[in-house]
Amino acid sequence: MTTLVFATNNRHKLDEVQKIAGNDFHIRSLSEIGCHEEIPETADTLEGNALLKARYVKEHYGYDCFADDTGLEVEALGNVPGVYSARYAGEERNPEANIRKLVTALEGATNRKARFRTVIALILNGKEELFEGIVQGEIIPEKRGVSGFGYDPVFVPEGYTQTFAEMGNETKNTISHRAEAVKKLEAYLSQTACR
Ligand code: IMP
Repeated sequence: MTTLVFATNNRHKLDEVQKIAGNDFHIRSLSEIGCHEEIPETADTLEGNALLKARYVKEHYGYDCFADDTGLEVEALGNVPGVYSARYAGEERNPEANIRKLVTALEGATNRKARFRTVIALILNGKEELFEGIVQGEIIPEKRGVSGFGYDPVFVPEGYTQTFAEMGNETKNTISHRAEAVKKLEAYLSQTACR
């Protein structure tokens, strides 16, 4: 069985990916390999940050690894907040303040199109691969719903009337940006395992 580190300590993300990766890969978290320091995320793109994290683990701990980074890209704002989504309204990374800033920035805007984009960077057997997942949608002026996290209460995915926060995690996780990127990773891993 191949050991692969997922550069996160988010249990929900780890469980989701372990299920997908099945028995061919043993997925380990950062804390399971003794990595307790904060990994620098200083790149100005999602691809750059995902690669920084994956390369950090490979260089410092020697494990093959994958890492993800996600951002909300709002068309009328030139794809802002993008890679800065978590700290859009400041370093305290407050989701409520982020939503307020976003809704204010879009006041009176007719173009409310936005997309969530996830990039996963994988380092496996000496090769680097990138996988992307996108969900298109729009930003509504007022919050609706209580599930999910981050910008979910103001994001309505294309083809739906509910926000991510109204539809609940089960539905969200089948159509989300992260799910799409993870499915591409899964397809690549299962191909690799069969070789
Ligand atoms: P991360 O790269 O998964 O840590 O995501 C960075 C930031 O993007 C989060 O702190 C949230 O603000 C936002 N974000 C990422 N994924 C989602 C999502 O599925 N729903 C809402 N906000 C998200």
